[in-house]
Amino acid sequence: MARDEGDGVSRRLRREQEQGRRRRRGRLEDERPLAPRSGLHSREVRVLYVACEGESTEPDYLQYLNEQFGDGDGQGRQRFRIQPVYRRNGLMPSRVVEAARTAAGEDEAWALFDRDQWDDIPQAVKHAAESRVEVAFSHPSFDLWLLLHFQAFGGEQGGGSKLVIEKLRQAKGADAFKNYDKRNDKSIKGARRDALKGREDKAVAHARSLIASCSHGRCKPAHAKAEQVDHHAKPQSPQQWAARSGHASECPVLQRDPSTDVWRLLVALGIHTDTE
Ligand SMILES: [Zn+2]
Repeated sequence: MARDEGDGVSRRLRREQEQGRRRRRGRLEDERPLAPRSGLHSREVRVLYVACEGESTEPDYLQYLNEQFGDGDGQGRQRFRIQPVYRRNGLMPSRVVEAARTAAGEDEAWALFDRDQWDDIPQAVKHAAESRVEVAFSHPSFDLWLLLHFQAFGGEQGGGSKLVIEKLRQAKGADAFKNYDKRNDKSIKGARRDALKGREDKAVAHARSLIASCSHGRCKPAHAKAEQVDHHAKPQSPQQWAARSGHASECPVLQRDPSTDVWRLLVALGIHTDTE
């Protein structure tokens, strides 16, 4: 009897803890329990809610950015804290945008999603434009962004990331990625993080050159925008919003093959500054 009671109590406790966790998911205090709440929105630490389609690769990468660059560089780069927003089993792009918007409230919101699996990308971009959620779209996939740390890449992929992953596994300097996406392991931890370190500038340069060589012909990396979004500015059309990537507003998102906008996040955070 006593044991039943005990189990009942611990079950209830567990349930309450679960609910607490769910409520707090996506908020900063999960990660930094000691930070005073009033300091969260101060100028000192820039807070971004970045929602992702995947549950492993992108959140791991965002944590890597926090740990590697989040404390500033002592030379004027602002401190930042990215709060990854994701769900077990992933989210489709329009849900990624919605998750970013909901979690961020008045804070800065970004949505990371890929071409490879989903068909609701036009809706996702439209929703992002309406709610001013920054889009970091990758075609065919986020894996392309990882690959660009090690080498340039080109050629249409038709939405599939098989070749991108193969190249990543074989890339010079990318030994840690030899087994990437084998046995379901797409994490970015340990040696894989170390392999990315110091290659950000190269990755940005490669991503920018993909814009310059976009088959549309009028896309220019110098047209990309990375300044913080003003929530009170005039609304933009989905085409204008998707042109923040540097691709022309008439360049259809689904035809930006291959491309990745993730570099803009690094520029926005001051991790990469030389964009000429
Ligand atoms: Zn383009």
